[in-house]
Amino acid sequence: MAYYTCYYCGHFGNDVTRVNEHPYPQRSGGVTTVDACHLCNSQKGGKTAHQFARWLSEHPEQMRPGVPYPDSDRRRFVRRMLNRV
Ligand SMILES: [Zn+2]
Repeated sequence: MAYYTCYYCGHFGNDVTRVNEHPYPQRSGGVTTVDACHLCNSQKGGKTAHQFARWLSEHPEQMRPGVPYPDSDRRRFVRRMLNRV
C-alpha cells in the first residue's frame, strides 16, 4: 500500500482515495500531475489550481464539515495559490 499527501488539502491517505490530478486541466494543455484526494479532485473539476483556490475562498463552507482533513491545510493551499502572481 502506497501513501500520499493531497496537494490541495494535505489529507494523508492511501491508494484507495488517491487520484492523479492535473493542476492545469488536460484540455488546457496541462501534463504534469499531482496526488490529490477524491474530494478535492471532484470539487476542482475542470478548474485550474488557481481558480479552485479562488472558488474555495468564495465558498468557505466547502472547507469545513465532512472533509477528512484539518481546515488549516486547505487554507494554506488557498493562501499559497492566491498570493502567487
Ligand atoms: Zn484533498
